[in-house]
Amino acid sequence: MGSINNVESFENRIYLSSPTMHGEELKYIVNAYETNWVSTVGENIDKAEESCSKYVGAKYAVGLTTGTAALHMAMKAAGVKRGDMVFASDTTFAATVNPVLYEGGSPVFIDSERETWNMDPDALEKAFEIFPDVKVVVAANLYGTPLQYDRICEICERHGAILIEDSAESLGASYKGKQTGSFGKYNVISFNGNKIITGSSGGMFVTDDFKAAEKVRKWSTQSRDNAPWYQHSEIGYNYRMSNIIAGVIRGQMRYLSEHIAQKKAIYERYKEGFKDLPVTMNPYIESDMEPNFWLSCMLIDESAMCKEIRYDSDFTYEKEPGKSCPGEILGVLSDYNVEARPLWKPMHVQPIFKKNVFITADGISNGESKESVGCDIFRRGLCLPSDIKMTEEEQDIIIQLIKSCFE
Ligand SMILES: *Cc1c(COP(=O)(O)O)cnc(C)c1O
Repeated sequence: MGSINNVESFENRIYLSSPTMHGEELKYIVNAYETNWVSTVGENIDKAEESCSKYVGAKYAVGLTTGTAALHMAMKAAGVKRGDMVFASDTTFAATVNPVLYEGGSPVFIDSERETWNMDPDALEKAFEIFPDVKVVVAANLYGTPLQYDRICEICERHGAILIEDSAESLGASYKGKQTGSFGKYNVISFNGNKIITGSSGGMFVTDDFKAAEKVRKWSTQSRDNAPWYQHSEIGYNYRMSNIIAGVIRGQMRYLSEHIAQKKAIYERYKEGFKDLPVTMNPYIESDMEPNFWLSCMLIDESAMCKEIRYDSDFTYEKEPGKSCPGEILGVLSDYNVEARPLWKPMHVQPIFKKNVFITADGISNGESKESVGCDIFRRGLCLPSDIKMTEEEQDIIIQLIKSCFE
């Protein structure tokens, strides 16, 4: 590749999504330090919880160390026990489903739908036909795009199942005017460094269920009983959020809508830039949902895919004129010091979950049936740099680099 706009490679790496700090975080960190509330109690935690529950529109929020810890607490609150099946998103980050295993449960993976790339309501319906006794569903709002909640919630309700909403990626996104993180009985937010708002790390358990919130507060602080000595009648965890991390979140929260607007502008610029290419952007249903546009992703039309072969942990491809593949684009961007990534690899094709059940809208997949939606988008899609510190000029060069792959 030659130079584009006289740039041969970016001096400073352009990231998928890195923390964007504003300075106000410091004020709260310093305050925690000066008042010596540097541990897992303090005003920052109270305020971060309050602003989170208010924003999402739920009654309670409990600050925890990570989104993964919040998912673990949600599994416990939902009563997942050894041997229990839990219906789970198939195309997602492994942290959505690992907490099922922490409690000895077994995730049953539900295929994605084309409309949002999230859990397919038809496949979920099918799953309840096959396993009517399942009582817990965990579903992720992928890349900041809400699930089709009208159908997902109705199906869960009709089958008496608890919905756990993994909103780790979707803080600020809404469905029919209602925020993600408020649809499930238990909901999870992440403040990991790559998310739209960060605490450097951190997570939040969000619910309207007072008893569950109280239980999570207790479990996450080693399950101490109310006694003068250390007394425990339940297993405990050390999952409580630090007041310093909560200070970072507190300083960031007021920038959430600004971050969303910037992420949306990035998405729209890619969409405009790719309008003559045989590709589409990660989809959402415009009439029903407003994503937070956490990551912009692209999907290559089947007809414009050159041959790419993926092995266990490597890949090759054969270049063809007018065609490209995720592997080629990743390589070209990497040479320019730009971070991009394949989409989440579906859970049912992960080595660790080889033996788990996988259900598509057609029923249980035996592994030989036609390719699932999740595998299809994984094969043809990739996540593009969506860092809000990326300039328009930088994004323009990235768009031209991607265009050059289809020449
Ligand atoms: C980031 C993420 C998590 C985990 O959050 P952490 O705070 O990193 O533990 C869970 N689920 C999804 C979908 C995520 O993207």
